Order: sequence, then C-alpha cells, then structure tokens
Amino acid sequence: MAKGKAKTVELIALRCTECKRRNYTVKKNKRNMQGKLELKKYCKFDRKHTLHKEAKIK
Ligand SMILES: [Zn+2]
Repeated sequence: MAKGKAKTVELIALRCTECKRRNYTVKKNKRNMQGKLELKKYCKFDRKHTLHKEAKIK
C-alpha cells in the first residue's frame, strides 16, 4: 500500500464536542471515508470519553 503520496489522505483534527478543543489529529482517507468523522475519544480536559468531530487543522 505504499503507492506514492496519495491526495486522498488528508490530515484532520478531531475536536471535542464538549470543550471544543482539538485533542487529536488523524489521517483521513477520503476514498474510504465519506462524510464527517465522528469518534468517541477520551478527552483529557473533560476526563471522560466524549464525542469528537472532524475539524480543520490550521
Ligand atoms: Zn473535551
């Protein structure tokens, strides 16, 4: 799977829906994943698992 630098992979941030912090960065493969990314992730600021949504990285 090492076929050059695919434009389909994009770096995005995952933002906590509760405190609005960007806690994670992930690589998203646009070809495999469509629509907005939503993941349950641990937020160290809320100290619990919260829903994280895709956000742009600045
Ligand atoms: Zn949070």
